[in-house]
Amino acid sequence: MGLDLSHSKTRIAHTLHERPDGTKPGIDFLGFAVRQIPMVKHQSGKNTNGQKLGFKTIIKPAEKEISKHDDKVAKTIDAHKAAPQAALIKHLNPIIRGWSNYYSAVCSSEIYSELDYRVYSKLRRWGQRRHPHKNGAWCAKRYWHTIGNNHWTFATKSGDSYFTLCKHADTPVVRHVKVKGDASPYDGDLAYGRARMGQHPEVKPAVAKLLKRQKGKCTHCELTFRPGDLWEVDQIQPKAKGGGNGWSNLQLLHKHCHDLKTQHDWSGTRVKSPTTEEPDDAKVSRPVLKTNGSRKRSV
Ligand SMILES: [Zn+2]
Repeated sequence: MGLDLSHSKTRIAHTLHERPDGTKPGIDFLGFAVRQIPMVKHQSGKNTNGQKLGFKTIIKPAEKEISKHDDKVAKTIDAHKAAPQAALIKHLNPIIRGWSNYYSAVCSSEIYSELDYRVYSKLRRWGQRRHPHKNGAWCAKRYWHTIGNNHWTFATKSGDSYFTLCKHADTPVVRHVKVKGDASPYDGDLAYGRARMGQHPEVKPAVAKLLKRQKGKCTHCELTFRPGDLWEVDQIQPKAKGGGNGWSNLQLLHKHCHDLKTQHDWSGTRVKSPTTEEPDDAKVSRPVLKTNGSRKRSV
């Protein structure tokens, strides 16, 4: 019995090199993107005999699947424009949980955090559309809460407890390094020491310096940074208002806290109110964003 592959559904690609016909390396399979990346010797993968291969195999969710998921979340939020917060949470939770579980073996916490930030941006617009005459801080207070160690939890009170929206970043990543008890990997001294030696995978030295000075806490909400939190470096006094470039004028804030602080800095001085500004979803947030005008400083 022979096996025939359908030509129209089959694509031959190399996972490491571009093919002569210009086909980009890598394949998408069942929603996973598989490709190999050339690596310097000491980072290279090994074959079963322990010989260095000169490349590493990387598997991630396919871009197409990420945007499909994004669309589904957006449509669900749109469909609940006027619904109670609890109804929206009830419909979003299985979507977020299902997707995150499917990719838990290949997703990094960074991808999950990015997705959570995109959900947050959409929910922020959802909240502001419902209350066009209230500001961002008012909406944040109404729809987001700190529950345990989780800051910025989209939740609503039901009886004595909260009904909360799942976060992608709550899904355990298989390669995830467990942090004991309440210790945060961003605790000032530890992160600083490691980052200085180039060992901390997620913390750049400049950020580590701020973490150390702030004892691992966001200066806006005064809560300790947790794994999965997004942060940004902020100029305490905006440059346009005479703030300097020195370290003393910099602080590290949760990305969400930074949004609120920026709104506050500019309220009344911008023609277009930031509370009605549509955030640009295409601009994927990173743990530390690149500089954007004079308000943020890239590190
Ligand atoms: Zn904060």
